[in-house]
Amino acid sequence: MVISVASGKGGTGKTLVATSLALALSDKDKVQLLDCDVEEPNAHIFLSSATNQSQPVFLPIPKVDETKCTYCGKCAEVCAYNAIAVIKEKVLIFPELCHGCGACSYLCPESAITEEGKEIGVVEKGSLGNMEFIQGRLGIGEIAAPAIIREVKKHIDPTSVVIIDVSPGTSCPVVEAVKDSDFCLLVTEPTPFGLNDLSLAVEVVRKLDIPCGVVINRGGVGDEKVEQYCHEQDIPVLLRIPLDRNIASLYSKGIPLIEGIPEWRKAFLKLSQDIEAMVRLGNKGKI
Ligand code: SF4
Ligand code: SF4
Repeated sequence: MVISVASGKGGTGKTLVATSLALALSDKDKVQLLDCDVEEPNAHIFLSSATNQSQPVFLPIPKVDETKCTYCGKCAEVCAYNAIAVIKEKVLIFPELCHGCGACSYLCPESAITEEGKEIGVVEKGSLGNMEFIQGRLGIGEIAAPAIIREVKKHIDPTSVVIIDVSPGTSCPVVEAVKDSDFCLLVTEPTPFGLNDLSLAVEVVRKLDIPCGVVINRGGVGDEKVEQYCHEQDIPVLLRIPLDRNIASLYSKGIPLIEGIPEWRKAFLKLSQDIEAMVRLGNKGKI
């Protein structure tokens, strides 16, 4: 079972939820925690295990053999990212804009384009008890986050329960991380901003046809509109975490909630059971 933990906006406590859920599950199951927030991976801060393996990730960047090139311009036409331009008798490649999609080399009528690997980041691995931890880290100045996320997801073990910590927002890296999940947990806070970003995230997971549920963090900080929205949209609120000085203090020190306040372990196990029941029933919104 693959559970992605996402949020429409940053700073909602998504990583707090992902790490506590993974740690609670690892008491009884084989678990993988995948940090796919590759621009700013921070789940490792909550885990006392350091990563001990690292693999570079390469992106295939086009290279033109000008002895074969006829300067027809097809490669520039097909590139959706403006990463290749043909000016008179010169082909210019902008590696920093290239997403390594391969369309230009595939469509070049003269087979004048080959590809060479450019290192854009790393995938790092470590373990903690029953839990395997894998994180992607995008290199500074690089833009191809989805390529790193794909590499991280290649490590998914189908015999494990997999928790994916997704980057905030609703852009391409989010779609890449969330797609193919069995369930998506959306973490939000009960404020107008939280509601706005939650509704955008719900649109994305519904387009991907993935069942979802909500965790409301910092309960009591705002109003009831997130609860009303979830009720109207038939989305279950699976966990409520109150605004609490102790929880905020644990978070700031990088201590997982279920380790700092062990009473929360039961709540996270119940959360995992509810998700499992929804996935088993193929239910899009109810337990
Ligand atoms: S598509 Fe191939 S032949 Fe045409 S300009 Fe690009 S590299 Fe040259
Ligand atoms: S590989 Fe894709 S993104 Fe890169 S230059 Fe070619 S068409 Fe553009």
